[in-house]
Amino acid sequence: MYNSKAYSVASATSPFAHTTITRRDPTEQDVQIEILFCGICHSDLHQARNEWKDVMPTVYPCIPGHEIVGRVTKVGAAVTKFKPGDIAAVGCMVDSDGTCPECRAGLEQFCSNFTLTYNFPDKHLGGVTYGGYSDSIVVDQRFVLRVPANLNLAGAAPLLCAGITTYSPMRHWGVTKGKKVGVVGLGGLGHMGVKFAHAFGAHVVVFTTSPSKKDDAFRLGADEVVISRNADEMQKHAGSFDFILDAVAAEHDINAFINLLGRDGNLTMVGAPDKPLPVAVFGLIFKRRSFSGSPIGSIAETQEMLDFCGQHNITSDVEVIPIQKVDEAYERLIKSDVKYRFSIDMASLKSE
Ligand code: NAP
Ligand code: ZN
Repeated sequence: MYNSKAYSVASATSPFAHTTITRRDPTEQDVQIEILFCGICHSDLHQARNEWKDVMPTVYPCIPGHEIVGRVTKVGAAVTKFKPGDIAAVGCMVDSDGTCPECRAGLEQFCSNFTLTYNFPDKHLGGVTYGGYSDSIVVDQRFVLRVPANLNLAGAAPLLCAGITTYSPMRHWGVTKGKKVGVVGLGGLGHMGVKFAHAFGAHVVVFTTSPSKKDDAFRLGADEVVISRNADEMQKHAGSFDFILDAVAAEHDINAFINLLGRDGNLTMVGAPDKPLPVAVFGLIFKRRSFSGSPIGSIAETQEMLDFCGQHNITSDVEVIPIQKVDEAYERLIKSDVKYRFSIDMASLKSE
């Protein structure tokens, strides 16, 4: 075992503080990574503040972070995919059983025995896993991704969650040229959803509560922008969408968006508000619409997404911050004041 610097919270109401944790020495299949950048996902905030206590209660101290990009420092004897010096990335999962039908189908995100990057039982050291708000991490090579060389690393980090979480359902629901696609909520996930839907050739409509984001939405690839609090603007799109991706982190009226779907249209939730969202079933029955959810994506699909980003030069629009500003960043996330992802420069941890 060795020591690693990190930032943790001690309770749902505590600010972040510097701490020292232990990481395992790399075993045969492991890759040790010096973390260079880690994105801040709204899930980190939900988890750090125990907002998901009914589904995934938080174990403290909690060290979030699942949008990790870094440099390989050491590899185990059986590691073939990476060597020291390589740039590598880790997302939301660090392990799965590898034997269940989901894993055998290459869909680890549905494995009942997977291990998430933080706040999950740590099979190696006991306690819970600690995430990327840290200077180092050790991960089984099966869960380590390659980053195309042309991508800016601060902007590539958020691809590991915001990227794959929006890419995967769009692929699943057949977002292609000629489809009319809505993206609800222009935050970290939403802005990646806009970039992907645009790159896939769809007609993209952004729904935002923030009129100040309108110009950015067009720049990111939107063909139309709707201020979702304006009922008249919403009404113009009634019954017209093939697919809508909802990436809102808070309670909101989901029926207003379901009513915008056409026949057989689908609305997929990737946003994970802590409270239930009431659904008016007649909105589904008429026009045979469906309402579903989607978690991240598989490791193979995450690599496919990273390669797609390399080919199309897609990264997240980031505001790079030192780790000392993580509390401030969380407060800004709550106010929807992020353009469009915070990415922590882990060099800032060296001075602690
Ligand atoms: P974020 O950067 O904070 O973006 C959320 C956006 O939602 C805001 O920028 C805002 O966009 C909109 N919004 C916020 N409050 C709203 C309200 N009360 N009513 C309507 N719109 C509101 O968050 P994120 O990191 O993208 O994450 C979004 C959600 O996805 C979180 O709940 C997160 O936990 C979840 N998530 C799920 C997965 C998964 O696997 N399914 C993976 C990652 C994250 P506008 O200003 O444009 O309105
Ligand atoms: Zn995330």
